[in-house]
Amino acid sequence: MYSIGIDIGGTNLKAGLVDENGLITATKKAPLRFESMEQMGETLARMAIELAEENRIPRDRVSSVGMGFPGPVDDRRGVVIKTTNIPIRFMPVAEMFRRHWDIPVHLGNDADCAALGEYFHYEDKDIESLILVTLGTGIGTGIILNGRIHTGVNGCAGEGGHIVIVHNGEPCNCGRRGCWERYASATALISQTVSAMEADRSSALWEVAGSPENVDGRTAFEAMHRGDAAAKRVVDQYVEYLADGLASFVNIFQPEVIALGGGVSNARDEDLLLPLQSLVLDQVFGKEADVHTKIVKAKLGNDAGIIGAALLGRSRRRVD
Ligand SMILES: [Zn+2]
Repeated sequence: MYSIGIDIGGTNLKAGLVDENGLITATKKAPLRFESMEQMGETLARMAIELAEENRIPRDRVSSVGMGFPGPVDDRRGVVIKTTNIPIRFMPVAEMFRRHWDIPVHLGNDADCAALGEYFHYEDKDIESLILVTLGTGIGTGIILNGRIHTGVNGCAGEGGHIVIVHNGEPCNCGRRGCWERYASATALISQTVSAMEADRSSALWEVAGSPENVDGRTAFEAMHRGDAAAKRVVDQYVEYLADGLASFVNIFQPEVIALGGGVSNARDEDLLLPLQSLVLDQVFGKEADVHTKIVKAKLGNDAGIIGAALLGRSRRRVD
């Protein structure tokens, strides 16, 4: 049997046919076009139908369709509460979808779906808890507890990017100040790198990036490897900011695994993962325990959202 996962992104819809091992066997992409909720429901259904047909998979070999939206959802009622990029409010997606294809439909938040995908594919199949932290424009987090997504009472749980780490700090889109994502997202790293560059014309950051517009999440790491002190300060401080938030997650959940995703997580282990592991361990409660949260790199990249969405309909996951 197959299931289909659809990732509703900022500009595109991506659908994937996912087999019983949680692997994508075929995909389909379409630009995101929103005219009305009705049209959106039909577009999503058409996409899933075409994906199955183009790959000659009869409809009765598809057990469910799952969709990951950039916002909170109520899967029990089949409703998307709101999304950040499309004017969707309380949209009964599942019912709209089933007018075109009567099949079990599940809804998830995109960061939660990605976490479910990473959880399913984590090497140790016995774990029950995993938190995915994706470092991008903001910080996306998805929390898996007891093998299931923790959605909270209203679908809005798992917004770890908005825990405050600096009182009265940088203003955030969510309305608070000093949110973790304002200091530890990829966007934050880029702006910290640009500030360090502008403050020091002799820094190797200029050699690496050429100009502030070219700075990306790798610039500071590269300049640090050329022996640049300003770049090292940027990296050290960034890793500390990251550790501050992660330590709070560990203190609350003590998950078996925290997986780090997003481009920044591709930095060399000795530059990011190893210092992070030791800083987090220094700060958390229970450091005397003989078992600790493992902090690892996420491994599914952009496929995590599709895979996780497709897994929403499976009772309790997993390849045994
Ligand atoms: Zn915030």
